[in-house]
Amino acid sequence: MNKKMFRKLVIFAIIILSLVLVGCQKSEKSASDTDKPYSVVATIGMIGDIATNLAAEYVEVTTLMGAGVDPHLYKASANDVKLLHNADLILYGGLHLEGKMSDVLDSLSATKRTVAASEAIPDEHLIGHAGSYDPHVWFDVSLWLHAVEAVYNSLIDLLPEHTTEITKNYESYRAQLEQLHAYVQETSNTLNKEQRVLITAHDAFEYFGRAYDFEVRGLQGTSTVSEAGTRDVQDLAQYIVDHKIKAIFIESSVPVKTIQSLQEAVKAKGFNVVIGGELFSDAMGDTGTKEGTYIGMVEHNINTIVSALAL
Ligand SMILES: [Zn+2]
Repeated sequence: MNKKMFRKLVIFAIIILSLVLVGCQKSEKSASDTDKPYSVVATIGMIGDIATNLAAEYVEVTTLMGAGVDPHLYKASANDVKLLHNADLILYGGLHLEGKMSDVLDSLSATKRTVAASEAIPDEHLIGHAGSYDPHVWFDVSLWLHAVEAVYNSLIDLLPEHTTEITKNYESYRAQLEQLHAYVQETSNTLNKEQRVLITAHDAFEYFGRAYDFEVRGLQGTSTVSEAGTRDVQDLAQYIVDHKIKAIFIESSVPVKTIQSLQEAVKAKGFNVVIGGELFSDAMGDTGTKEGTYIGMVEHNINTIVSALAL
């Protein structure tokens, strides 16, 4: 064999080898795809987190709204619509939480397995305002268990062959949430009655207030669609001065300026209120962090609230 032929042979061998390698990669990928044959798409993180806790071994969970995203204002992108169309199960909050996605979700529900998790909560437990319900149900952990149950039912419906495993995961997650509810109650109880006032950027904490005995005030209403007026800022600032409130709170999914303008209005009245920290209201923290889970976000919030409002 001459040098030229040898070189040709080597090049040929390299080509064959790379084709084989590409083939291997491809077959690996399709193997992992068949491991999780079902795709679950959730709107908000708190709901995606339920599916992950209950059935991560069997389904690919995709959450459309990440850290810091406001669900009231969120519009589905072209890619989201594609994901939703390809999903085997769509999970969302409902009660008009995803205001700008209502049409997309409604039309998909006609042809797809779609569950509005928060709407599984019996009406008598919901807080109503002028003909609609407050959608921020996840901050009463005991109430959130209804949403968890709805997601559980939809998952065993999708994967009846894994009922035993998913039921085991469900029972374990339920127990963790019952513990979490008790933790929020105990931690809240370290504050006295006068200290239990929670002031945030928008009305996301009404269920929290009712469940854990806090007076709750938000600068904006239950949606962030309309901005707070000067009058709202002045009224709430006066309330803070009158009640000598120690701290007010930023929300991760609402611009900081909303709560800063309130702090300035209080200062103009000759009183100082501190910003007690950032709460996760309508979105969880970054993926991979403790606050990037529902349990972690609830613990972070109650610890932040209590340490800022305590003497
Ligand atoms: Zn909200």
